[in-house]
Amino acid sequence: MKEGIHPKYGKSVVRCACGETFETGATKEAINVDVCSKCHPFYTGRQKLVDTGGRVDKFRRRMERKD
Ligand SMILES: [Zn+2]
Repeated sequence: MKEGIHPKYGKSVVRCACGETFETGATKEAINVDVCSKCHPFYTGRQKLVDTGGRVDKFRRRMERKD
């Protein structure tokens, strides 16, 4: 009956490549992932960086016109 106390499906630690760790339920004790919700481009605002790049490009064009 003791087997019921320790089910195979339990808490596991997910370790991301960015260093973020969080607990989740899984059959494995430890999981390594490349991206998580903290570093995934969709969440980190990679689109913001792209937008900023466009702004810089516009600024450069302005400066070129001035010259
Ligand atoms: Zn991550």
